[in-house]
Amino acid sequence: MKITEVEAIILRQPKVDGAIADGSQDDLIVRVHTDEGIVGIGEVDSAPEVAKAVFEAPNSHYIAAGLRHVLIGQDPLDIEGLWRRMYMGSVYYGRRGVAVHAISGVDIALWDIKGKKLGKPISELLGGKKRDKIRPYASLLMPDTEREAAAQVARLVGMGFTAIKFGWGPIGKDEAHDVRLASAAKKEAGSKVEILIDAGFGYGADADRAIRVARRLEELGIYWLEEPFEPDELEAYAKLADTVGIRVAGGEEDSTRWGFCELVERGHVDVVQPDVTRCGGISEILKIAREAHRVGVGCVPHAWKSGVIKAASLHVNAVIDDATFQEYCVAETPINLHLTREKMPVKDGFVAVPTGPGLGIELDPDILERYAVGAKPLKIK
Ligand SMILES: [Mg+2]
Repeated sequence: MKITEVEAIILRQPKVDGAIADGSQDDLIVRVHTDEGIVGIGEVDSAPEVAKAVFEAPNSHYIAAGLRHVLIGQDPLDIEGLWRRMYMGSVYYGRRGVAVHAISGVDIALWDIKGKKLGKPISELLGGKKRDKIRPYASLLMPDTEREAAAQVARLVGMGFTAIKFGWGPIGKDEAHDVRLASAAKKEAGSKVEILIDAGFGYGADADRAIRVARRLEELGIYWLEEPFEPDELEAYAKLADTVGIRVAGGEEDSTRWGFCELVERGHVDVVQPDVTRCGGISEILKIAREAHRVGVGCVPHAWKSGVIKAASLHVNAVIDDATFQEYCVAETPINLHLTREKMPVKDGFVAVPTGPGLGIELDPDILERYAVGAKPLKIK
């Protein structure tokens, strides 16, 4: 089998609110076409136009090439070999960040191709499932008031969630209000439903401020405090994690095993959150999860986009050593709700790992066409 074309398709809803941290308002879908008619699907959670350039840039030279140039004509089943080719082909401008985001989308699509070719779900190709279903946490933006936070908890518990994460929004602007919001959510949730707080860099690099808030969150029984600091403030991370008892989570902006190694060694986090559409794909996230497990650090994949990342993360969570949670984005955007035909619903507090070949999902061609920006997606027979 040979790769014949690589598409990087930008999707965007008609009106984007750039002031909120909702990455499901746009998307970059990767489709890898083959001479056998099998098409692999991947996704990249990045700045779509920037990542698209990584695909379409012409070959500058041996270690500064666009991914399309690297991939066309190659065997899609040689996933490990192609990861290495893409990594080395972009090593002058890549190694982390957007080049690895783009590689992630391809890697997911290659696993999808392999699964479709062999008629097996990706989780089976990865050495067999350790579990068929994962406990999701509903993931949403933190509202401004305690009343709204409590109302969201009631709504989501009613939908069957047993864990809920509130992120970004007002968190970090006023310590006392941060604690009030978390307290209102936890009070509504009760002891059987976990509440997670994602500070969305809210404490900048101020470890002392984060320590004060973290101690209060711990008293409330909050499950974890995520991304209190900007991603490069690893000293603040270490100071916080070494001081408080509550779990400190982070890493959604990081990529590759080498990046996560630094986060764990210098930042002392309790939980890493690699995003499969950014960290290097399915191949790389498994290496990150394995290393985290070896050093006693939790691994809960970050996932906020469409059904594509949901499915890819479910396959990952099905096979890693400790799968605590599946992040389950509940943003009511068309890309999150409608891009994939399969909705992967929450049932009895769990989400089932898809069982169809590859990722086990298909894109809705009407949604793809409707939200595509620029060149129309290729028609698939
Ligand atoms: Mg986060």
